[in-house]
Amino acid sequence: MDSLVSVVIPVYNEEQNLEDLVRRCLAVCSQMKRPCEVILVDDGSRDKSATMILEAGERHGGKIVGVLLNRNYGQHSAIMAGFSESRGEIVVTLDADLQNPPEEIPRLVAKMDEGYDVVATQRVNRQDSLFRKLASKLINRVAQKTTGVKMTDYGCMLRAYRRHIVDAMLQCHERSTFVPILANGFTRNTTEIPVRHSERTKGKSKYSLWKLINLQFDLLTSMTMFPLRALSILGVAVAVLGIGFGIMLLVMRSVYGPEWAAQGVFTLFSILFIFIGAQFVGMGLLGEYIGRIYSDVRARPRYFVQQVVGREKDKDVPRIKKGSDVTI
Ligand code: UDP
Ligand code: MG
Repeated sequence: MDSLVSVVIPVYNEEQNLEDLVRRCLAVCSQMKRPCEVILVDDGSRDKSATMILEAGERHGGKIVGVLLNRNYGQHSAIMAGFSESRGEIVVTLDADLQNPPEEIPRLVAKMDEGYDVVATQRVNRQDSLFRKLASKLINRVAQKTTGVKMTDYGCMLRAYRRHIVDAMLQCHERSTFVPILANGFTRNTTEIPVRHSERTKGKSKYSLWKLINLQFDLLTSMTMFPLRALSILGVAVAVLGIGFGIMLLVMRSVYGPEWAAQGVFTLFSILFIFIGAQFVGMGLLGEYIGRIYSDVRARPRYFVQQVVGREKDKDVPRIKKGSDVTI
């Protein structure tokens, strides 16, 4: 029998979309002809979403699983909550606002069956504002550079992950996460397929400008420590500029006399540059330590074992035999 597919959907004030969502997801599941569970995670909605999820869970027990969080934790935390409840070998994430059509799930699952760890999607003809598209472009570029995984659309949440990737993500306990980027750290082979994208027809986007900025910072800090290092680089550049300027002043002054250097004002500038540069280098050094503290505080497991082969079953081979002369 084919393995179970879990569909994880974060829901925050989506009462207008839930009915359609549940209906369309159930239709897709029955069409797929393989076991399927839809996990709806209510992220502390203030409208009727939570009650609607409870009702759907009771009516379609086994097929729809409802998870209610006690308050709003954010889309990515809600997805993680859904992950921990999921049991499928393949886990698909989806937005509740029907911008990603659930009808695309079978295509993702079919692609996963070819053996990929993650199947991402790229929104064809994306229906969002120009500002959001530009911001996404920038972030996608940075993400490609820093994670080394080539994907073109990190913002699209319609994605499929294999179980061992989901388990690895669940062992990462940092508070600010961005699921697609987090997954990248654990993947070997990924691919992307184009999917349709619709406009949000009901309800409003849950991301205000402030929330979006916050999300971009989450993304950036979860991906790279480069901004901290950039301080040192900037500092060295400014200091070198100051030193160069100083040398130039010295030469010009000895050629054209003291009037040329505006009675020492230029010299002051050169000294100032050198000191500002030194300050930045100092901040960069502090940053290097802070970066290391940050990665230690996150306390991610050092590695994840995907599979072990060649061990004899049922034989518990003790690492150190009792009575041996090995001392620890
Ligand atoms: N969402 C959530 N918690 C939040 C914000 C959003 O669970 O704090 C869910 C929301 O219900 C939707 C998905 O995350 O299913 C994406 O949100 P939205 O469509 O508002 O984002 P956009 O498409 O504008 O990026
Ligand atoms: Mg949306």
